[in-house]
Amino acid sequence: VNVDVKLGSNKFHVDEGNPHIILKESADIDEFKKLVLACPAGLYKLMDDGSMRFDYAGCLECGTCRVLCGSTILEKWEYPRGTFGVEFRYG
Ligand code: SF4
Repeated sequence: VNVDVKLGSNKFHVDEGNPHIILKESADIDEFKKLVLACPAGLYKLMDDGSMRFDYAGCLECGTCRVLCGSTILEKWEYPRGTFGVEFRYG
């Protein structure tokens, strides 16, 4: 089974309108590119027009982006509150 199928079996409870990760307004593009490659959920995307996109909804809460780029990119990084966030399914 490939990794996309595995990831697809996880369930996400998205805290709509209350992102647990927020990027800085002026995120550094070179730092951002690291995250395009490093985020296991592929949530950091560089668009054809060069703009940076991030969607917190599929976050696996692995902390890679925080460890790699921390305050150079991130305005906020917290675990989702309460019952929100990823629910890992095994097997
Ligand atoms: Fe991606 Fe992990 Fe950062 Fe979530 S915590 S955005 S899955 S790198």
